[in-house]
Amino acid sequence: MADVENVVIIGSGPAGHTAAIYAARANLSPFMFEGYQAGGSAGGQLMTTTDVENYPGFPEGIQGPELMQLFRKQAERFGTRMVMEDVVSVDLKQRPFTIKSDEREVRAHSIIVATGATAKRMGVPSESRLFNNGMSACAVCDGALPFFRNQPLMVIGGGDTAVEEATYLTKFGSVVHLVHRRDQLRASKIMQERALKNSKINIMWNTVLEDALGEQFVTGARVRNVKTGELKDVELAGIFYAIGHTPNTVVFQGQIDLHENGYIKVKHESQETSIPGVFAAGDVHDHKYRQAVTAAGSGCAAALECERWLGAEGII
Ligand code: NDP
Repeated sequence: MADVENVVIIGSGPAGHTAAIYAARANLSPFMFEGYQAGGSAGGQLMTTTDVENYPGFPEGIQGPELMQLFRKQAERFGTRMVMEDVVSVDLKQRPFTIKSDEREVRAHSIIVATGATAKRMGVPSESRLFNNGMSACAVCDGALPFFRNQPLMVIGGGDTAVEEATYLTKFGSVVHLVHRRDQLRASKIMQERALKNSKINIMWNTVLEDALGEQFVTGARVRNVKTGELKDVELAGIFYAIGHTPNTVVFQGQIDLHENGYIKVKHESQETSIPGVFAAGDVHDHKYRQAVTAAGSGCAAALECERWLGAEGII
């Protein structure tokens, strides 16, 4: 089947590009749909991050977009073919699989899904102006930036991420306001206890963010108590959303087994999905760690497993 690709990689974040590097070096000649819509651009969530200081190998840190350029360059160097198109549909019911974008239809013996997840935002009025200027959806990525040091900060959410990120931010901020819309946290008991014990965390119960304040940078937040309706302005330098992520799995619904929360189910230690020959890597299946380095690791594993599978099927 001359016109059938060995492997199509969908997504171009750390997981997709690492899978591409390994697949290309295994002479699989991978074809990648880079996508552009999920994170606002190809390259995934790191494209909307500034300093990345926790990716090993860059002791001085590196800008997110620059890191993704390097990932891309490395995948290209070994012969990955890439198109900056979003996948709009897939047919995984018969082999070879079919993957469609608005521009083309590609058939493939195997697929590595690395479409990632998108951090949820609240869409408050000033968000379009202030996002990345004091507003962030990733405390672990941005919390250590100099302009947050010794300043009051705010985290929105009541789950494990919110509590974990609020705790993390106490290392940098003078105080961390944890704003939660109910009077009970969703986070696990152990994480709750840690937050409740931390004297630098101030929990604002039954409270929602109305808007971020500031012109060029965040200088405060307007919050509303949902019980009393009272509005209050709080001075601070940073607002961090921790209200969950949405996995980018819409095109796979009904074809691959997903968890209730929409993330792709993978078999333990093989990255294989419920469809033989379809693998998943990175945030599209991992809702726990969500780090570039763990995504890259699972991209590597997916490519190695994919190569093994193609060999076992007698395709390569
Ligand atoms: P969750 O979905 O668990 O929590 C989201 C939180 O944000 C909830 O408290 C929710 O409120 C709140 N929220 C959602 N939408 C809005 C909104 N529009 N306005 C205000 N608040 C909102 O997401 P997490 O990212 O916290 O966790 C995802 C998964 O990852 C979980 O399974 C978690 O256990 C896991 N995780 C584990 C960690 C660990 O073990 N170390 C660390 C981080 C995550 P409400 O409670 O009212 O619904």
